[in-house]
Amino acid sequence: MSVFPLQDDRMSTVDEHVERILESLTPLQPYDQPLLEALGLPVCENISASMDLPAFDNSAMDGYAVCFDDVATATEDHPVHLPVVGEMAAGQTKLFALSPGTTVRIMTGAPIPQGADAVVPVEWTDGGVAAVRITQAPTLHQHIRRRGEDVQTGDVLLEDGSVLGPRQLGLLASVGRSQVLSRPRPRMVIISTGSELREPGTQLGHDSVYDANSYMLAAAARSAGAIAYRVGIVSDDPQEFSDALSDQLVRADMVVTSGGVSKGAYDVVKEALSELGTVHFGEVAMQPGKPQGFGVVGEDATPIFTLPGNPVSSYVSFEVFVVPAIRRMMGRLPYRRPLVRALTAQGFSSAPGKRQFVRASFEIDNMGAHVTPIGGHGSHLVGDLSEANALIVVPEDVSTVTPGSQVQVLVLDRDF
Ligand code: AMP
Ligand code: MG
Repeated sequence: MSVFPLQDDRMSTVDEHVERILESLTPLQPYDQPLLEALGLPVCENISASMDLPAFDNSAMDGYAVCFDDVATATEDHPVHLPVVGEMAAGQTKLFALSPGTTVRIMTGAPIPQGADAVVPVEWTDGGVAAVRITQAPTLHQHIRRRGEDVQTGDVLLEDGSVLGPRQLGLLASVGRSQVLSRPRPRMVIISTGSELREPGTQLGHDSVYDANSYMLAAAARSAGAIAYRVGIVSDDPQEFSDALSDQLVRADMVVTSGGVSKGAYDVVKEALSELGTVHFGEVAMQPGKPQGFGVVGEDATPIFTLPGNPVSSYVSFEVFVVPAIRRMMGRLPYRRPLVRALTAQGFSSAPGKRQFVRASFEIDNMGAHVTPIGGHGSHLVGDLSEANALIVVPEDVSTVTPGSQVQVLVLDRDF
């Protein structure tokens, strides 16, 4: 477990808390995964090409494969006529050798017959089937895609650690790979606690609220590349919570809970986990999201994050602490998503000594990157949260942000 657990007597900084989380996590073991499963994951090997691309000379156009010398003089006024001795479609195995003075109809992607050194596009001909009239000359080798002009055997295609997006997966498929070595997505179990919570779609009592967090966090987990198992609601009964947790551990690489970690009575998560001695609760100098807990539970020492219950606090905590943890388990660098700089036209104040995460709207226009704070400070304001697409990150030592100044921004819902 961590060398510097959360302490009750001193607030940790955000950076300390992120570091202790990252240090105590071990990346998952890589294994060969089918290409599509690896979308968004980093590759865990250097991959070099085992073949040339294109693998053989082939036609870039529908047209006629010719010997260049036969057609070099073709013009509208002095067309060249050639007998068509065959036809080659893409995927056709029959190989032609072209004799001078003849031509073969050829389709895009079909192998160039031996002896041909140019392709005349069908548009420059009368499209003849038995004989063809050519009215424009190609240049030597025109419209032939050369073997190996794109990728050559032995070329490095992807370096260890690079992230597999659609284009990289396309490249791997192009060289015949069906699997790729990468770390699996962490499986994350998400539990909401609170006796006041109700499942959306059911009846709401006069004093109850719908469980927003398990949906929001499960969605955030998925967006960050994890597999999310949304358990849903557990009431504020420590035994019920402990039972639900042990039931879930079998399918969890990490667990996230929301609620029940403040200083009130019925703080179920704190009550149930404190006595284990492997989960530490304390305060982190940030706003929103001050009460945090982190540690391990169960036989396999499964990491657990206990996030505060207020939806905004829960979401911000997830972005700040859990997303880097997911990335670390997948081996995706950098663990913390980089911040970007933007101008804020609006000034605002920030609690001194705490890192403030201000909900904001971020946009890039022809004047550059701009950000505007949205709504109030309340950690219950989910309407504002949904409107925001960024968090302005105000450092601990800044208490006033002046209009027109540069700020650091965590752009949400963006994969970089
Ligand atoms: P707690 O941290 O459990 O004291 O909860 C703080 C506040 O967040 C209370 O107003 C809760 O009702 C609310 N809350 C806790 N969990 C959720 C949830 N899953 N969805 C929506 N609101 C919640
Ligand atoms: Mg609660």
